[in-house]
Amino acid sequence: MVTLTIDGIEVSVERGASILEAAQKAGVRIPTLCHDKRLIPYGACRLCVVEVTQRGRTRTMPACFNPAREGMVVVTQSPKLIKSRRMQLMLLLRSHPLLCPSCDAAGNCKLQELVHEYEIEGLPFDREPRYFSVDNDSHFIRFNMNLCIRCGMCVRICDEVQGQRELSFVNRGILTEVSTDFGRPLDCEFCGQCADICPVGAIKSKWLVGTGRVFELKKTETTCSFCSLGCSLTLGQKEGKIVWVSSRPESPNEGNLCVKGRYGWPYVYSEQRLTTPLIKKDGILQEAGWDDALKYVAEGFNRIKNQFGPGSLAALGSERLTNEEAYVFNRFVRTVLGTPHLDHAGGYAYRSLVNGLGPALGFPATTNSLRELRKADLILLLGADLHETHPVAKNEVILATGRHKARAIIVGPVQTKLTERPGLFLPVPPGAEYMVANSMLHVIINDNLYDKAALNLRAEGLEDLIDSLQSYSPEHVGKVLGLGPSTIRQAALAYGQARNAAIVMVAGMNRTGNELEAAQAASNLALVTGHIGREANGIYILGEKANAQGAIDMGLSPWALPGFASLEVPTDRERFESVWGSPIPAERGLSAQGIIDQALSKDVKGIYVVGENPVDTYPDRLQTEKAFEALDFLVVQDLFLTSTAKYADAVLPVASFAEKSGTYTSADRRIQRLRPSINIGGVKTDLEIFTALAALMGKPSLTYNGPEQVMKEIAKLVMPYGGITYGRLGENGIPWPCVDSEDTGKEILYEGGFPGGKANLTPAPPIHPKDVEATGLNLIVSTLKFHSGSMSVHSASLMSVCPEPVAEMNAADLANLGITDGAMVKITNSYGVSVRMKVKASDRAMQGYVIAPQHFSATKLNALTMWDEPIVRVQVEKA
Ligand code: SF4
Repeated sequence: MVTLTIDGIEVSVERGASILEAAQKAGVRIPTLCHDKRLIPYGACRLCVVEVTQRGRTRTMPACFNPAREGMVVVTQSPKLIKSRRMQLMLLLRSHPLLCPSCDAAGNCKLQELVHEYEIEGLPFDREPRYFSVDNDSHFIRFNMNLCIRCGMCVRICDEVQGQRELSFVNRGILTEVSTDFGRPLDCEFCGQCADICPVGAIKSKWLVGTGRVFELKKTETTCSFCSLGCSLTLGQKEGKIVWVSSRPESPNEGNLCVKGRYGWPYVYSEQRLTTPLIKKDGILQEAGWDDALKYVAEGFNRIKNQFGPGSLAALGSERLTNEEAYVFNRFVRTVLGTPHLDHAGGYAYRSLVNGLGPALGFPATTNSLRELRKADLILLLGADLHETHPVAKNEVILATGRHKARAIIVGPVQTKLTERPGLFLPVPPGAEYMVANSMLHVIINDNLYDKAALNLRAEGLEDLIDSLQSYSPEHVGKVLGLGPSTIRQAALAYGQARNAAIVMVAGMNRTGNELEAAQAASNLALVTGHIGREANGIYILGEKANAQGAIDMGLSPWALPGFASLEVPTDRERFESVWGSPIPAERGLSAQGIIDQALSKDVKGIYVVGENPVDTYPDRLQTEKAFEALDFLVVQDLFLTSTAKYADAVLPVASFAEKSGTYTSADRRIQRLRPSINIGGVKTDLEIFTALAALMGKPSLTYNGPEQVMKEIAKLVMPYGGITYGRLGENGIPWPCVDSEDTGKEILYEGGFPGGKANLTPAPPIHPKDVEATGLNLIVSTLKFHSGSMSVHSASLMSVCPEPVAEMNAADLANLGITDGAMVKITNSYGVSVRMKVKASDRAMQGYVIAPQHFSATKLNALTMWDEPIVRVQVEKA
């Protein structure tokens, strides 16, 4: 630490902190126009100049990139400094049009604020305006370079944080402007970070143009509804309609958002939104009032329950439900429907991954906070294409491999954008990532790259693990996977010898390829090398949807009650029964796959689908369709008339994330609030529907006066949520475990050891032959950065950027098949099922792979995939 004095206030900061950071810590404001804590200091605007006295010498210097030093005396306000700042501002105004009355940024413009603060009322020299045409050609964003003050923040965030390098300065002198190469429209992630960080009105969201100004919008703090990173959102609405989305710089995501979070919200206003319940009359879904619809649903469930027993009913929930909704849904299914058959198939891959960690480490969850990733020296990505699936997590890898000089080891079937960063790429078939991880462990153990004594203190099972790794020599695994043994060795040495190393894995809907084995291998790697229980180490499991972790925590599983009974052990039934006031079925229920199978065999007769769209998203679409067709009674609760809802007997329209209250638990275990911002009318929240149905089905005791009361019950019953109240969550949430009202949660798990005293090493499985038979062409079902499940296709904004599915293939494969780039192709699996879509040549696809996106219902891509078959062999031909 160094101690210095700023405007008479003594402050201590870490060595290396800038004078500006020290001033911020001391509560002293220094004006800036080109500084953002996410960026490397740049010193362009010179407004942050301060007078620094050290060793008897006083100098004027920019505070943003000069380090604070021991004994410095800093003055931030003096006649000399004010004169200097006024001159800088006047120089900027020389070329900045003074059109504040018509500027969309007025009231939210730092230049305007400072010009006002420094009382600049005229310029002592001629103005030198520039004339650039306003560029409206890009999606979402308008460029008006006449307003640019060349602070470079847009260019820098695009490079340093996003890793895109889409923008740069072009031309020289007064004609310098920010542009893409040759001024073409943006072709990037469309994250909007450039527009968000622009301190003036040079880059702005098109939605605000002529609509409203940021200062006059009513703002609501909430949480993103798309992926599991749980980025904080500020929804800005005017006259009851959302027109702008941003994120607070003080949020855990530091104000960073991806395209979905910033521009994906229009799905809440989609014309396809359902706002009236539908019930089937004369074989056709027809509009009905809420009272009639709820009565119809309650009677339908009661009829099946009474006629065939509660076990003939089943329920499928979703990772998009809030914690409170998932919890009450669980209670409703087990105590009102009375069935144990409850699952959320979105959790198939995610649940397998976290269950690979739970028994080994103690908790089925990510071990560290997302922001620590940037401090890791090595990041091992197992089957993770963060650029497409979790763009804000990708930023962390960009920061680590850029500013922190870390290396990224990427193991998987797709040449992701991150393979361009320093590190290694080990291409393997989908589902074979565990083999590489185990082979790395084989090297680490054989080469003695670990501290055996320390390992024996923290974990059990080393001997069994060593035995099980015999077949994982890099030579053997290399041969099986077509990798050089030296590459596996290199990866092992890099991970084993790194000071701080983290592992990242991603779960997606259709990925059913040995996730459990991969997670077990990851936990073994982390345990053996000691890369766990410390900052910037650990294992990250990133789910596909907003509340992937919450769905696990709230027990949306056949065998689980809320609170980590998801470790396959039904516990605490009596405790739950005493609070829920009803018996809970003791037997293990059916999984989602089992529910579909038993619907086909007619053992399951009624299904309640909430927030999920199995027809579009479960593997083996044709069987799923047949299963829903075979049902006596299907109820779907959703925002849209989904492909599944078309088979329903009743469809209940629900509130979106922007219309309700509750909490999501992010991938890094942070429990965060959702707050209602708008009201579109006609819909009910899932919670309101569950309690209304319970009352109609004879369980009026299942009632809550809102999600806050549900959270109080969760806190009572679910240990890691024990200290959670809405009041305590504040704006930034709390990472569980938070066991009582004094506890502020834990960003890093296992810092003080493992819950059971010691962790468990899990023996590696034998190499599965099916994982190595990747011959011919193989399908990879992918997620696109512009989409999320099947919900984002209802967002007009996201559809404007990415309106249709396009398969990606290696140019050599296309040439071999005589297929031209952009042609329409027929993709046929080994069962003879075909789908059609366009194809393009892409560097992302290695030879032998077809990468196709999952989101578009009409394509029916999931007709090609099968449960438990990670390798999908296909043929591709011109359509
Ligand atoms: Fe939302 Fe995920 Fe994008 Fe963050 S990274 S803004 S949580 S979709």
